[in-house]
Amino acid sequence: MRKFLCCILILYSLYLSGCVDGTVTTSTKIVVNSPSSLEGYVIAVDPGHGDRDQGTQGRHTGVFEATLNMQVAAALQKQLQDAGVIVVMTRVDDTVIYAQGEGTYKQRDMRQRAATVNENDSDLLISIHMNFFDDGQYGGAQTFYQNGSEKGAKLAQDIQTAIVTSLQGDNTRKPQSGDFYMLRETKCTAVLVECGFLSNATDEANLQEAQYQDKMAQCIVEGVHTYLGIS
Ligand SMILES: [Zn+2]
Repeated sequence: MRKFLCCILILYSLYLSGCVDGTVTTSTKIVVNSPSSLEGYVIAVDPGHGDRDQGTQGRHTGVFEATLNMQVAAALQKQLQDAGVIVVMTRVDDTVIYAQGEGTYKQRDMRQRAATVNENDSDLLISIHMNFFDDGQYGGAQTFYQNGSEKGAKLAQDIQTAIVTSLQGDNTRKPQSGDFYMLRETKCTAVLVECGFLSNATDEANLQEAQYQDKMAQCIVEGVHTYLGIS
């Protein structure tokens, strides 16, 4: 157990010190007036939940939200890295790093995630989640942004538009604002993407398909391009 914990700590220090592919602690941003690619941007990807907190659960298959969040986030990480983005992951598997100090596991988890995003000087944060509602008829992805954040509203709209245009033609949902710890406590433009409802049979089945997960990630990348004015 101790050996295992050591490994995690070593891996995490490597992750923080930038030895793991695509992740750095110090910003090496390339500032250009008319960017033509995502090259050099630092984008934080936050796969919601994990470890002690598995999030919501699929109504029909019992799949855990934390698992699907990680899969979509990994697809997003790959696509962003392929586009030259420096990706900061708040977790890379089901292991969660808890911040030192006071609070519940959940509070320490969230505090560490926000610190990871801020310490890496991220330009954008995209938090990945799955939704659930009592009535199984409701489905479709929806983006969220922090109350009062104009930039967050634009990024949320651009991602929502890409999802509706390229993946979910019958989705009539609009981006919605609210108060979210990860969006409030991080310094960059931040959005939360609820990729679909695990209470809806179609969404639950689709979201477990690797191809659909890739497509969802592609829509998010498309939204990021639009937000940053990169064609
Ligand atoms: Zn969630």
